[in-house]
Amino acid sequence: MTNPLDMCDTIAFYENTPEVDKKLDVILGQTFGFYVPKVRSLCLAESEHYQFSFAQMRKIVDKLPKNAQIRLKAKVSGNPDLWFSNGNQPIPTSDIDKARSPTAIIPSYIEFSADGVPKIQLYGLGKSIENVILTTKTARIIQAEGLLHEVTHAINWLGRREIYNGQPKSTILQFPDGEKMSALDALKEFGNVMATHSPMSHYSSFYWEPSGNGIKTFHDDPNRDDNDIRAIDEELAETVAAYTLGFTFTSNLERRLDPFVDRPEVKTFVRNYLNAKLVE
Ligand SMILES: [Zn+2]
Repeated sequence: MTNPLDMCDTIAFYENTPEVDKKLDVILGQTFGFYVPKVRSLCLAESEHYQFSFAQMRKIVDKLPKNAQIRLKAKVSGNPDLWFSNGNQPIPTSDIDKARSPTAIIPSYIEFSADGVPKIQLYGLGKSIENVILTTKTARIIQAEGLLHEVTHAINWLGRREIYNGQPKSTILQFPDGEKMSALDALKEFGNVMATHSPMSHYSSFYWEPSGNGIKTFHDDPNRDDNDIRAIDEELAETVAAYTLGFTFTSNLERRLDPFVDRPEVKTFVRNYLNAKLVE
């Protein structure tokens, strides 16, 4: 398998698996559930770099339970194509000639800004389509996955933010069984649940692996002490995307179209986490 930052194998899976398109089509064909215009959980800026209309993007987010949508606040904008550069520390580049490979695509990114509203960037895939690296249907799947991944980071931020200087405390959630827990503790709880399994996806295996009594993180920044929570946040972002879309790209063939087949308790946790009510 290629490096987790290279989407080469992921693209091949999407291109060659019609079930993946069908699952996305079902989401795009659904009628709106909770998402109504008055709920401005997602502020979408105009862009030529989206693979979807605004309504389609809202339908993808509307697949999340109502209580998760209430916890979501983010601004979304589109930007030109971006890749990971060559070298030890992956740095984004908009020059394909400097990319570590034409398939080392960065689909999306999130920035936690001072005003408290996370900013999601969706990077265009137009150059990759033009260069016949992937087809439009795969571009749509990549962008749908990227959107759900970043939206989950925005939801997780309500807990994760507490460990950073100058940020507000974590929000408090009430889980469907009545238990109240801070969103930060919920993330730590997910860290315990995920530690007994392999990473959800090829991408999240970039960040961590199970260590026997917890997780071992990779690519840690020695100047930061948030490496564990970062790995948890990335794993949960991939897990919510897999839960919502019904597929994931992993080396485990059986899990590609049935992502939770070996981990029902992870699925239960994610369902409860997304359905947890915002208390304060
Ligand atoms: Zn991420």
